[in-house]
Amino acid sequence: MSTLKAVRGTRDLLPPETALWNRIEATARDVFARYNFGEIRTPVFEDTGLFARGVGEETDIVSKEMYTWEDRARAQSEKTQSLTLRPENTAGVVRAYIEHGLGESGLLQKLYYIGPQFRRERPQKGRYRQFSQIGAEVIGPPSAGSESPLRDAEVLEMLATLLDELGITGWVLELNSVGSAADRARYNEALREALIPVVGQMCGDCQRRAETNPLRVLDCKVAADQPIIETLPVIADSLDEASGAHFAAVTAALDAAGVPYTRNHRLVRGLDYYTRTTFEFTHGGLGAQNALLGGGRYDGLSEMLGGPRAPGIGFAIGEDRLVLTLLAALDQKAAPPQVADAFIAPLGEGMNAAALVLARELRHQGLWIELGEGSFRLKKSFEAADKTARQIVILGEDELQSGILTVKNFSTGVQTKVPRGELAVFLSN
Ligand code: AMP
Repeated sequence: MSTLKAVRGTRDLLPPETALWNRIEATARDVFARYNFGEIRTPVFEDTGLFARGVGEETDIVSKEMYTWEDRARAQSEKTQSLTLRPENTAGVVRAYIEHGLGESGLLQKLYYIGPQFRRERPQKGRYRQFSQIGAEVIGPPSAGSESPLRDAEVLEMLATLLDELGITGWVLELNSVGSAADRARYNEALREALIPVVGQMCGDCQRRAETNPLRVLDCKVAADQPIIETLPVIADSLDEASGAHFAAVTAALDAAGVPYTRNHRLVRGLDYYTRTTFEFTHGGLGAQNALLGGGRYDGLSEMLGGPRAPGIGFAIGEDRLVLTLLAALDQKAAPPQVADAFIAPLGEGMNAAALVLARELRHQGLWIELGEGSFRLKKSFEAADKTARQIVILGEDELQSGILTVKNFSTGVQTKVPRGELAVFLSN
């Protein structure tokens, strides 16, 4: 019988690496709390229509990467429904914002999420079919200040803080503006015209995009097309006065806060709903998939999903890529193994219950304890303890009666007799 394996593009996360994942998530929660964000958890699957409308039929995500199925009707009266594993979380958050009337408070909604997303992409290093994103959205009625460039700058400054606190150095913030829907339409026209004389020399994808969505030509990775793309007009020249002023205000606030960025005129992002500010944080250590995170402003998304006017800005961090970056910085393939404070070795199976009681006492006092097994010979207990803990505590009939325990420290090799009442303090030093 063939053995079963995790599906292509998915993987198991095991200790000790999961400790690193938990540390990243704890740091993110801590930073988000300081910026007054609250957590939202939306379902992992949604009606397919949400993504078709909220991400865009033309995007690679919707046109070829979604895990979609027709949910069977359970009763004659029920209709089947097309469902999709979420490929991203912004559409779900905005759906929830509309469904729960969160805008009615008149306040800015500041929401973050952490969770799995699903895209049928070609797996490679840093690109998986199930991956985890840490993201946040700032969304609300215009009266709450949701359109202000200060919101964009604050989100970017928060991301710089988060990456710094995670210990990720060498990130680059690439920034651009894709303008309003009208600016984009104007730019698309300018691109379409500029492409007419040159598109014949470009790749098949670009030839198709030049017809359907010229903006996407800027995403092209084919080396031979790059010199041609360099000559195309930039979107900065198509921005109207308001979009230009918005971008200038964002960069002025970033300059004031000392957050470095570079302008990337080609940064138009893969999703259709972006307006004005778009950004990516990249990291050289990641190789081909060098984007740590991406995001931008999406002022028309709520209306696109049938909701009230609710401008917003958000981002999604690729958590898998944070882990890869941190592991590379640690200069090792795996996170350091987790080591307990002490290993308790019962001498004989008759001591097992007493060992459980001792372990319980110490764990209640906050120590990390590995519990051995009385059927082990002492040598085997020492070998197991040496691999999992800093110290070993031997518990036999004599120790139980006298209340004096023998502790051996593996790094110093020193063996000490310690009264049971002082054990927790001794072990934690
Ligand atoms: P997006 O939702 O496409 O804007 O992506 C935001 C971030 O999620 C990217 O910058 C990546 O870090 C991460 N990401 C996107 N797709 C994948 C994937 N298939 N595997 C791992 N990380 C991904």
